Amino acid sequence: MAKQPMLKFVTIERDMPEKRDADLRNKDFHEIYAEFAEQKAREQASRCSQCGVPYCQSHCPLHNNIPDWLRMTATGRLEEAYALSQSTNTFPEICGRICPQDRLCEGNCVIEQSGHGTVTIGSVEKYITDTAWEKGWVKPITPAAERDQSVGIIGAGPGGLAAADVLRRAGVQVTIYDRHDRAGGLLTYGIPGFKLEKDVVMRRIDQLQQSGVEFVLNCNVGEDISFDAIRGKHDAVLIATGVYKTRDLTGPGATAGGIVRAIDYLTVSNKLNFGDDVPEYEDGSLNAAGKKVVVIGGGDTAMDCVRTAIRQGATSVKCLYRRDRANMPGSQREVQNAEEEGVEFVWLAAPKGFAGDPVSGVMVQKMRLGAPDASGRQSPEVIEGADYVEEADLVIKALGFEPEDLPKLWNTDGLDVTRWGTVRADFQTGQTSLDGVFAVGDIVRGASLVVWAIKDGRDSADAILDYLGDAKAVAAE
Ligand SMILES: Cc1cc2nc3c(=O)[nH]c(=O)nc-3n(C[C@H](O)[C@H](O)[C@H](O)COP(=O)(O)OP(=O)(O)OC[C@H]3O[C@@H](n4cnc5c(N)ncnc54)[C@H](O)[C@@H]3O)c2cc1C
Ligand code: SF4
Repeated sequence: MAKQPMLKFVTIERDMPEKRDADLRNKDFHEIYAEFAEQKAREQASRCSQCGVPYCQSHCPLHNNIPDWLRMTATGRLEEAYALSQSTNTFPEICGRICPQDRLCEGNCVIEQSGHGTVTIGSVEKYITDTAWEKGWVKPITPAAERDQSVGIIGAGPGGLAAADVLRRAGVQVTIYDRHDRAGGLLTYGIPGFKLEKDVVMRRIDQLQQSGVEFVLNCNVGEDISFDAIRGKHDAVLIATGVYKTRDLTGPGATAGGIVRAIDYLTVSNKLNFGDDVPEYEDGSLNAAGKKVVVIGGGDTAMDCVRTAIRQGATSVKCLYRRDRANMPGSQREVQNAEEEGVEFVWLAAPKGFAGDPVSGVMVQKMRLGAPDASGRQSPEVIEGADYVEEADLVIKALGFEPEDLPKLWNTDGLDVTRWGTVRADFQTGQTSLDGVFAVGDIVRGASLVVWAIKDGRDSADAILDYLGDAKAVAAE
């Protein structure tokens, strides 16, 4: 077996404090910060025990070669670490920022499990690729040879973009259609800027554009162009449209003014981050400043809403969830972040109706957890006679998302969907029931994660290349 290089433990404190102070005085903030970040990354990377049973790798959906790029980072071989990390992940710096690492790679780190605190894999991954961008190592794609075949991708979220990257590397002509004015999907208009800076997403879009990917924006497939027209234009089509139908609230007053959808609220906030003029923010309808905000839901979208409302200057922000803390779907880390920022969680509480129009309060039913249901989760039950009114002048619905009815919206026969409305597709290849049509990401899995959309996009692009290869062979016969 090849001998492993000795790992040098790098400390943040320098050996000589006086020399360090003099150094600091002569440097500007960015230089000091960069140096600190490098030391931090190397320190963390050095903590990897190279355990030989890389559970971190097997629990990363992309099976990133984490131990090897940690070793390279620890020994200062950053450009190699970048090349290795980028070889399995289209957007490492994005995953490093927003993957729920506690449930994936870091949650399965052997050091974490032995009680010594995980190696912060995500932050090292982010550091490696941010450095690669700074140093100019990330380049537009230049395929060895161009092909005359083209693929139309519907949806410019992480699934569609990851597929575009693989297809362009193989020289395929790629056009991405999206109904928004900017590409990126939920990376751009869902996830808030305090978790994922928008310039980090936009530089990737620019890179793909410079690589020859054509973006057709403000183009709602089914309205501005038909699905059949896209099929007619391209040799294969990839559906990567995500899930956007908001689960709704019921009960008296549920349609009152001031009760808004999480996706609308977050989209407006993200547009502001780009410096856009946003009338719904200016007129106060999607602006939490000076308001008592109640967010309903217990997932990560709810956490993004409460944390955005705090930043917009809400007078109070409460999050209502019908189960307890231990049973909420959102990440515990996010709950802790929200609590530290001043959000109040009201556990075991469900909305029964709404007072006023515009809304002035949420009628809350107190709940308790009853017997487990078929999935093993305890079902919430109403506690009779314990209702009360929670004051609110902005209520944000964050109860999750469902797929839109694509066959109906696109007036297309033969595109099979599941009973949940997701597109029925082979999980490995993304092949749908239509010849030459593939599908990836949330529209196949239901609301999921960025890293899974990237994996699907990459896998499906490989399957599309096989499909195009076969099509070419048949044409040549
Ligand atoms: C608020 C919020 C926060 C999240 N935070 C995280 C997080 O921190 N970490 C994480 O891993 N995951 C997070 N997720 C989940 C993650 O964003 C999604 O799983 C991921 O973006 C799915 O990628 P996708 O490419 O399938 O779809 P999307 O990112 O949804 O992109 C789909 C694209 O298709 C376009 N589109 C849809 N229909 C049409 C049409 N008819 N014509 C043209 N274009 C169309 C849409 O405009 C959109 O740009 C979050 C989700 C939300 C809602
Ligand atoms: S892609 Fe996500 S799960 Fe995989 S190593 Fe990076 S942060 Fe961890």
